[in-house]
Amino acid sequence: MLHFFHRLLQKPGIIKNDTRTCIYCGKCQKTCHHKAINVDKKNKAWVIDHEKCHCCGHCIKKCPIHALMLEINIP
Ligand code: SF4
Ligand code: SF4
Repeated sequence: MLHFFHRLLQKPGIIKNDTRTCIYCGKCQKTCHHKAINVDKKNKAWVIDHEKCHCCGHCIKKCPIHALMLEINIP
């Protein structure tokens, strides 16, 4: 039973950024209600806190150049 609930609470995957195409505009950071993303345009740095991320996908929809994706966990 505990195993069942553990599986339900698991996230479907992790958000990944294709940093070869990311333009560090910060739109993903602004749209994240959980403050999971930090973008530093000057230093071209993009960091995500997977503990804070809820995998809602809002940042993926907001990214103007489709650099973000959800990498699905394979059981
Ligand atoms: S919205 Fe897309 S292009 Fe802009 S910083 Fe985030 S990942 Fe990079
Ligand atoms: S998927 Fe949702 S919670 Fe995770 S970083 Fe994107 S906007 Fe934030």
